[in-house]
Amino acid sequence: APLIGVLALQGASDAHCRMLEQRGARVRNVRRPADLDGLDGLILPGGESTAMLRLMDREGLFEPLRRAVQSLPCLGTCAGTILLAETVEPVQPSFAALPITVTRNAYGRQNDSAILNAQTALDGGPLEMVFIRAPRIDAVGEGVTVLARRGDDPVLVQKGHTLACTFHPELGSDPRVHAYFLAQIGHH
Ligand code: GLN
Repeated sequence: APLIGVLALQGASDAHCRMLEQRGARVRNVRRPADLDGLDGLILPGGESTAMLRLMDREGLFEPLRRAVQSLPCLGTCAGTILLAETVEPVQPSFAALPITVTRNAYGRQNDSAILNAQTALDGGPLEMVFIRAPRIDAVGEGVTVLARRGDDPVLVQKGHTLACTFHPELGSDPRVHAYFLAQIGHH
């Protein structure tokens, strides 16, 4: 079974671990650089990207993680997507692993947090999406495939072995994003 690391400095890692284990993967919490050794894939969860960046600095994890997301299949969710983006508004450091532009907390008070169903290119019909103070993907660069949208906004995107969504697929009951991620690992 593939061994998946889940960044566990801050934020929503436990529910990701349960989703992965239910689908037969092995899971390891990532808190320091040595935890990256021997992984087959990596999840950067939701939470607060600024807090994660501070903790990464403290653990000397920023550079090891930046290298890991270049070489490993990776799934970023919400704050994790902010970490993967090439361009972040307001400006903050990121791994720049995915040519997308994101604006943090962009949906405004009324639409800040929501559970929506939206069309997706993944098999099985509309996808349940839990948004919590989500970033908005404002632009996608060359080679990025949009796999789901919220209105006009991309909310699930992929380039090569890098997958990112602005919602929380580990919350709620729809396992398709995790299943799709694990399927990518087989093809890596
Ligand atoms: N608002 C958070 C950030 O800017 C992301 C929210 C989330 O991950 N649910 O990092």
